[in-house]
Amino acid sequence: MAIRDPKAQRLFFEDDLVEGARIDCSRDQAHYLRNVLRLAAYDRILVFNGRQGEWGAVLEGASKRSVTLRVGEQTRPQESGPDLDYLFAPLKHGRLDYIVQKATELGVARLRPIVTRFTVAERVNIGRMRANVIEAAEQCGILRVPLVADPQPMHVALAEWDAGRWLVFCDEAAEVGGPLDALRRLAPGPGAVLVGPEGGFSDDERALLLSKSFTTRISLGPRVMRADTAGIAALALANATLGDWA
Ligand code: SAH
Repeated sequence: MAIRDPKAQRLFFEDDLVEGARIDCSRDQAHYLRNVLRLAAYDRILVFNGRQGEWGAVLEGASKRSVTLRVGEQTRPQESGPDLDYLFAPLKHGRLDYIVQKATELGVARLRPIVTRFTVAERVNIGRMRANVIEAAEQCGILRVPLVADPQPMHVALAEWDAGRWLVFCDEAAEVGGPLDALRRLAPGPGAVLVGPEGGFSDDERALLLSKSFTTRISLGPRVMRADTAGIAALALANATLGDWA
């Protein structure tokens, strides 16, 4: 595995990356490079696009308002990650930002906001979620950038479910014990983790989830955690048993 350079500054671009390519930075990116990082012409950063690995790039033209990068050599090949979806009831802004960043660091492939009976956040700002995904990937050198799906009512997500994908249902009402045993009975492959809102799952939602053949219910222990904490705990268990921590 190519070595990740923890100190290097990384920036995400949608552009295709190939040796010799030139990238015209956006105003925000130019501001960040010039005025926050205080980089100057011929300084070097790392760039990635979530598809073609990580590349060295040099600031070519650099004025106060515009920066052009010249792409150099590839420093790391594109990395994959577990085919793991994270389904969660969207939380209020700050905590949503937090869980989106943590789920990105935990290597999920897709972030899927799920609207349930007790979900508090009506509107979900997808653009803000995507910006938090990119920020986490830039900070942690994550090359497989998770997709952000549009919010879905839970019953719709379940009705459209691909039964070849297991669903781990984190149920605060489940009998305590054995989450690892339950996960180890699943096969590595397409999977998903579902965490409910602060208000928990309704009885109808719980019955619907338990009626599905692809659902595996787990308890995350005797203490009821906040939704963001539960998401991190569940994604860690899933990675350690079925993901790429094994
Ligand atoms: N208000 C509810 C708790 C909701 S916690 C109550 O007091 O019962 C938010 C979500 O985190 C839950 O829906 C569940 O998905 C998850 N969660 C929190 N603690 C958990 C636990 N001990 N076991 C399983 N899931 C848990």
